[in-house]
Amino acid sequence: MKRYAAVFFLLSLFLAPAMRSSPAPRQAALLAPDNPFFKPYGTPFNVPPFDFIKNEHFLPAIEEGIKLEQAEVDAIVANPEPPTFENTIAALDHAGIFLSEVTAVYGALQGANTNKELQALARKTAPLMAAHRDNIGLNEKLFGRVKAVYDGRNALKLDRDRLFLLENAYRDFVRGGALLDEHQKARLRELNQELSLLTVKFGENVLAETNAFKLVIEDRADLAGLPPSAAAMAAETAKQAGLDGKWVFTIQVPSMTPFLQYSEKRALREKLHRAYFMKGDRDNENDNKDIAKKIIAVRRERARLLGYDDHAAFVLENNMAKISARVNAFLKQLWEPTLVKAREEAAALQAVIDRQNGGFKLASWDWWYYTEKLRQEKYALDDSALRPYFKLDNVRQGIFALCGKLYGLQFIEQPGLPRYHPDVQVFEVQEADGRHTGILYMDFHPRESKRAGAWSGGFRRAYYENGKRVPPVASIVCNFTRPTADAPSLISTDEVETFFHEFGHALSTLFSQGRYRGRSVARDSVELPSQIMEHWAFEPELLALYAKHYKTGEVIPAGLVEKIEKSSLFNQGFVTAEYLAASILDMAWHTLANPAAIDVRDFENKVMADIGLIPEIVPRYRSTYFSHIFSGGYAAGYYAYIWSEVLDCDAYEAFKEKGIFDRTTALSFRTNVLEPFGTEEPMAQYVRFRGAEPKIDPLLRKRGLEVKK
Ligand SMILES: [Zn+2]
Repeated sequence: MKRYAAVFFLLSLFLAPAMRSSPAPRQAALLAPDNPFFKPYGTPFNVPPFDFIKNEHFLPAIEEGIKLEQAEVDAIVANPEPPTFENTIAALDHAGIFLSEVTAVYGALQGANTNKELQALARKTAPLMAAHRDNIGLNEKLFGRVKAVYDGRNALKLDRDRLFLLENAYRDFVRGGALLDEHQKARLRELNQELSLLTVKFGENVLAETNAFKLVIEDRADLAGLPPSAAAMAAETAKQAGLDGKWVFTIQVPSMTPFLQYSEKRALREKLHRAYFMKGDRDNENDNKDIAKKIIAVRRERARLLGYDDHAAFVLENNMAKISARVNAFLKQLWEPTLVKAREEAAALQAVIDRQNGGFKLASWDWWYYTEKLRQEKYALDDSALRPYFKLDNVRQGIFALCGKLYGLQFIEQPGLPRYHPDVQVFEVQEADGRHTGILYMDFHPRESKRAGAWSGGFRRAYYENGKRVPPVASIVCNFTRPTADAPSLISTDEVETFFHEFGHALSTLFSQGRYRGRSVARDSVELPSQIMEHWAFEPELLALYAKHYKTGEVIPAGLVEKIEKSSLFNQGFVTAEYLAASILDMAWHTLANPAAIDVRDFENKVMADIGLIPEIVPRYRSTYFSHIFSGGYAAGYYAYIWSEVLDCDAYEAFKEKGIFDRTTALSFRTNVLEPFGTEEPMAQYVRFRGAEPKIDPLLRKRGLEVKK
């Protein structure tokens, strides 16, 4: 979880992981010889041939992929042999390879490099894919075979990973409606169709709203307080928008945050922040209020059809938490000390305002500004003084160095490999002995064609084909501060943390080992590999290796490092409160009994009033742009970041006990947690690494939330 950045992990891409070992479909290749999906890629490391992929290639490839997978499923069903693990469960795991390959590329471009044509296409393909999934999930004969294997599982004496795959396959069918009658199944199909369209529309609206707003500054005096880097970036943005000689700030986080932190113009801060938190709630053609309600209503109806109380119950069954009551109790345990801390912070900020005879009450658009003032006063720590030590390239080298120390990895740039945008960097990852581990794509800066936030996904997950490992192709997509005419990309400490975070997801993709393609990662453990990486980001021993001034090469001074360390608890009340508020809002939506009857603003206000959120803090995401839960995969799961944080804080203790670069601990983490991630119950894997279940205390200490006794 990041402070101001949205963090996505595109798990959905990997539910049916991509690969490309089977020959491309022959028939289709004859009909469409130019479609690169219909022939062997012929690229180094078999990466997608981005140079040849055009928008019009996706639909025929997806349609063909659907046909092929359906044929594979039909063959499993038609098998005259009695159902076995191999001929049913393993065969099903191996079906749909071609479709996975295509949709991995397609999904990645939808997020990172979209255009009007691709967006229009999503409205066509989303219902196609939903129908296809239903055709498999509701196939009675197929389910009959799976159920037969499942019912006889005790006699099979299966290995851990095989049993886990079988149990998940069975549960997926049941959750997909396999036990419903015909009438109910028909309704389920309708609901899935409706949901697929609603979630696409929700995401489109958020993107449209983000791009629609520009704060255009014409008078240099209105830049008062801003560091030169922020002004330079705004001048670049203006230029790109055809507004030469002006300055443009947007509600994309890298543009908005410096303005909120530094601008002395309170009215402009208000204008910008309001534009941000009113996204999708402006009663215009991009409004998401009704769409949000409809999404919740459809999810709820689907959950009840399947025999669950609500969508939260449906989701949590697959998570470590298992039930809403446990999530709510956990959030409450954290909320109480957090609110105390947030109130103290608000009072301290108000004191700064009063001391300066401001004559107004602290508002949400003031929080960053006065926090920055107080940060400078208390720690003399200024974001713009830090940035020169965090040149993006240096941070990247720092992460590579860390992976070298922990795992012996080497990173070799591959500038010749195809990429989907010229900004993208591609690296080959090798083990210490030179063995190929996988390929990593990194795409760092904002574009209008890119969704906000940061995430990790990929174009292929590792698996075994006839005993041979097919290596993965992972990716990281971010929205970091762009370089300007005078300076390279100098990123904030938040962005540094985000980079380490997403790199952790990428590592679990790169290290992945397993006999089968299928992975079932509990949503509330998925942030363990990513969040543990954040712990290293500002360790003095690592900073010494990478945090070097971009002009002088001077290593970040010890005094500054100490200040970063000391200020780590600063503003934690705010950060934790805005995050927990969003998590609580998510749980409230997904346990809501009658969504059609509510007014979205009233509902939000009531949920926040019930927990006593102070008005100076806006939940990190308000409903109308809460993409994680409405169009991403985090419905009833936004709490997962802090649940995972219990795990990563406890896991990092193991490194602290043995030394933060300890190779033995790293190897144990790699082999017990990262390599088999999603092939077993996560707690069992964790205990194998740590020797015990995780304790909550390291998390409370890290956030300064220990209850004083
Ligand atoms: Zn993440």
